[in-house]
Amino acid sequence: MPTVLLVEDNTSSQFLLEDVFSYDHIPARLITVTSGEQVQIMAVSLKPDLILMDLRLPGIDGLETTEILRRNPATKDIPVWAITAYAMPGDEEKAMASGCNEYITKPFPTRMLADRLRAFFRELSKTEPPKNVPSQSADR
Ligand code: MN
Repeated sequence: MPTVLLVEDNTSSQFLLEDVFSYDHIPARLITVTSGEQVQIMAVSLKPDLILMDLRLPGIDGLETTEILRRNPATKDIPVWAITAYAMPGDEEKAMASGCNEYITKPFPTRMLADRLRAFFRELSKTEPPKNVPSQSADR
């Protein structure tokens, strides 16, 4: 099952996301951390398929954390969706410039987020070969 790493310091937002995953049948396990420092470590050890990144975090913020993940060869290709409650003009451009792939503003309609997540995992299952199955090699 794919893994999603949520970086969110606000507990009610954490619960909201956990509800989306449980009740909207998102085919992924959700792991939550609360800081940019933690996600840098967890992203390397977990190799998540997707990171949901709150932009306002204590310590290193979400934009800087995303830039750090993009510079690390172990994490540079993991999709990052920015999530923010305080969208200001220019924030989406900043998020994209820091390396985020999608930009989602809170409060979001949870149905919309669930649909986007399902679409993401549908595409992922098409492009990724099943894990633990040896790949067929022509030169064997
Ligand atoms: Mn926050």
